[in-house]
Amino acid sequence: MSMVQWQREADIVVIGSGATGMPAAIVAREAGASVIVVEAEADIGGHAITSGGNVPLGGGTSAQKKYGIEDSPDLLFKDLTDWSVVEPNGFPDYRYNDREIVRAFADWSAPTFEWLLAHGVAFADKSPDQRGGGAVGNSVPREMHAVPLDWPLVQTGAPAEPEQRRSFSTGNGLMRPLEAAARKAGVAILLEHRMTALHREGGRCGRVTGIAARHRGEALNIRAHKAVIVATGGSSGNINFRRMFDPRLTEEYCGLAGMPWSDQDGSGELAAMEIGASLWGLYNHVGEFGATITKPGRIGTQYGYVNLHWQPGSKIFSKVRATGLRVADWQDVILVNMLGKRFYDETGKQFTANNYNAIKPYVHGHYLNAANIDYAPNNWLNAAMAGFGDGHNGGGPIWAIFDANAVAREKWVPKPPFVDVDAGFFFEAGTIEELAAKIQMKYQRRPMLPESLAATVALYNNFVVDGVDSDFGKPKPLYQIAKPPFYAAWATPVVHDTRAGLRINAKCQVIDLSGAVIPGLYCGGESAGGFSEHGLARATCQGFIAGKNAVAEKVP
Ligand SMILES: Cc1cc2nc3c(=O)[nH]c(=O)nc-3n(C[C@H](O)[C@H](O)[C@H](O)COP(=O)(O)OP(=O)(O)OC[C@H]3O[C@@H](n4cnc5c(N)ncnc54)[C@H](O)[C@@H]3O)c2cc1C
Repeated sequence: MSMVQWQREADIVVIGSGATGMPAAIVAREAGASVIVVEAEADIGGHAITSGGNVPLGGGTSAQKKYGIEDSPDLLFKDLTDWSVVEPNGFPDYRYNDREIVRAFADWSAPTFEWLLAHGVAFADKSPDQRGGGAVGNSVPREMHAVPLDWPLVQTGAPAEPEQRRSFSTGNGLMRPLEAAARKAGVAILLEHRMTALHREGGRCGRVTGIAARHRGEALNIRAHKAVIVATGGSSGNINFRRMFDPRLTEEYCGLAGMPWSDQDGSGELAAMEIGASLWGLYNHVGEFGATITKPGRIGTQYGYVNLHWQPGSKIFSKVRATGLRVADWQDVILVNMLGKRFYDETGKQFTANNYNAIKPYVHGHYLNAANIDYAPNNWLNAAMAGFGDGHNGGGPIWAIFDANAVAREKWVPKPPFVDVDAGFFFEAGTIEELAAKIQMKYQRRPMLPESLAATVALYNNFVVDGVDSDFGKPKPLYQIAKPPFYAAWATPVVHDTRAGLRINAKCQVIDLSGAVIPGLYCGGESAGGFSEHGLARATCQGFIAGKNAVAEKVP
């Protein structure tokens, strides 16, 4: 008998209120179960509400049918398990996908889409496309776009412009309707409740019976009569956890996409591993494809993910501190490492991911698919994370260096709230030497020598005169860095998706290291492994699957 003192109880306890947790909770509640969702943060939504709302559910959705696109579960399954598809840098998107997990996704993908529609999620009324997803298959377009209607956006605090409310793709349009549906159905949502552990009878051998959580410093235990669903959204924000996959991902990669709305602290994975769970599909998290780690799109802020534009009206702006400067043209800056040295062509790109029409002609499983991709290594990220031979892992801070002319060309305003001066993510000075001397912040573990940055800028200015970057082959360097004031803006790579996590089966049940089901424990989304696809489709579909199966549990 368990000696745990339970303060609350429900049939199903869902941990996390994002793209996985919310569908799981609603499905279970509507099937008759009592459901508690615990959410660590002060508002629902997780990364899903901050997301671009591009939802690649396919397999024959009503939207695909409406626009004459023929898709089927079999075609979706074939696409997402095609061994022959590689990216321009040679990395495969689908080769290491677990067939059982992808088959379940393929079968439940279209039903999940129809279910979202039935629960108030509105999508832009236009043909599915390939915009915004990642690793979603090469045969047909599948991407649909959730629209915000009148809901206020978490990024700005205000609704979208009236003319954009039925066209602008955003995760606000996914998560606010689902929150409303959950509340209407009677799901209990406990905000600021952080799961700290899972309870399992016999420690590592019996059923999962509930969770331990903390609420404003108070500990409590919540009994789950049927099942617990881990929907905690991944581990990319946990430095030690993510370094199991890639030792380079040290602490300076502090601007996780989706933060500071919610973190990906690996708490779900760690709690499940404590009671015996296995991890799965680990290649998918190190393969150089997709958005596991990205080039920043905004500089001078800790949170520089290209597609997340926090603005002062956001209720979390005091945590974000700066909007960042959106870089329209990487010709306008040079990028240097902690020592003030350039390391790669600034216009270099991040990794890509396979979507519709990426390989032409595409024939499933054909040996020529790899040959029909033009080899292009896309190594900006690898160069940025390489370090400089001093025995440390990780590349250290990357700084964008530019001058007053670049500010004018880009129409930037280089002061707060656009840049984060107080926390050390932005510096300004009258000379290049003074600028280098000013760059001091917690991740700058060695000073940038003024003469080093001055030499880098002088050499680059010569490249501009010659029209040739003889160090890194930047296509025709265009602008000298010459007119004061001079600026240094944080431009360090941004950690994003988690694509490896707990081992699950087709029902989203969590599996232990001996291959056995852990009774009463489910998982989906970024905390689950075995599936290389980015984002919302995988998460919503697995939430749907987990909710359905959790409610059907026969508890002895
Ligand atoms: C800026 C941005 C843009 C994106 N755009 C797209 C896009 O356009 N299309 C797409 O397909 N994907 C996109 N994604 C990815 C997509 O948002 C995520 O893959 C998806 O939200 C993952 O769902 P999830 O349920 O696993 O995690 P989340 O949606 O992050 O939800 C996890 C929730 O669990 C909570 N939690 C974590 N630990 C605990 C704990 N211990 N106790 C209680 N609660 C906890 C978190 O606070 C969070 O609310 C984007 C992501 C970001 C950050």
